[in-house]
Amino acid sequence: MPRTLDPELRRALAARIRYYNEMGIYDFYRRPVSAHAEEVALPIAVDEEEFATSQNTFEPGEEMSPRKATAVAVPVEENIFEVIALKPEQSVSNPVKALKIIREDLGDCKRCVLHKQGRKQIVFGVGNPKAELMFVGEGPGADEDEKGEPFVGRAGQLLNNMIKAMGIEREQVYIANIVKCRPPGNRTPEREECATCSPFLMRQIAVVKPKVIVALGAVAAKTLLAMNASMMQLRGRFYDFKPAGVRSNDPNWDGCKLAVTYHPAFLLRDPRQKGEAWKDLQMVMKELGMKAPKSNT
Ligand code: SF4
Repeated sequence: MPRTLDPELRRALAARIRYYNEMGIYDFYRRPVSAHAEEVALPIAVDEEEFATSQNTFEPGEEMSPRKATAVAVPVEENIFEVIALKPEQSVSNPVKALKIIREDLGDCKRCVLHKQGRKQIVFGVGNPKAELMFVGEGPGADEDEKGEPFVGRAGQLLNNMIKAMGIEREQVYIANIVKCRPPGNRTPEREECATCSPFLMRQIAVVKPKVIVALGAVAAKTLLAMNASMMQLRGRFYDFKPAGVRSNDPNWDGCKLAVTYHPAFLLRDPRQKGEAWKDLQMVMKELGMKAPKSNT
């Protein structure tokens, strides 16, 4: 039977970890589990297993029927066992330099199998390093792989139009993907690949410090929010978001809002959903105090 932590104990542990974080201590190690310690260690192991299982079902397509969804969309609980290590870019205040450090750290990345499945280059991210608005997609396609920039193909054109409809230019936002290498045949990235690559995206987010992130499609939403739910359940609301495993060097930035909308590639396949996507973007615009150009209102 799975065991869960007593809520009181959970709160006490969270408070203790926050206390250590405030003292500048971010790395925690678990002792090897002895026979005596097993009872204490078990709830932690169970939590990790539950977390792994909850992310395990990326299903193709943008919509799952509510019956197939395995969990109701709820905000992610604070992960009290999260290990936050200091990253080299955190001592750098210039976001351009900080992003460069992350890119250098990524190097000629071979951390997941996507490096040997036909990628031409790593597609890191593009745009304003101080953007208030950030778009996160799933992964590069053929055009992006060719040019080394996210969202430059047909879906990219549509994303540009969506950004323009909001009354801003592509250069004003920051755009990145969950995985930075093209999955072969434009398949959906595997959970393992998302988990391996997304820590670099989390670091990019902590540097850019957006006010709002728009997750484009189910893979981006599920990875960022660490939850499994249908697009229908995920859209239409804001989530409080903090990049996992990393913190910003700006004490005034304590995370941002995250909204979910359809991936532009899905909207190309089903243009009837464009109106729904526009509703999502209008919600974002309201949050950012933006006004659409007259022609869109
Ligand atoms: S997808 Fe990410 S983790 Fe995998 S090889 Fe490319 S850069 Fe590395």
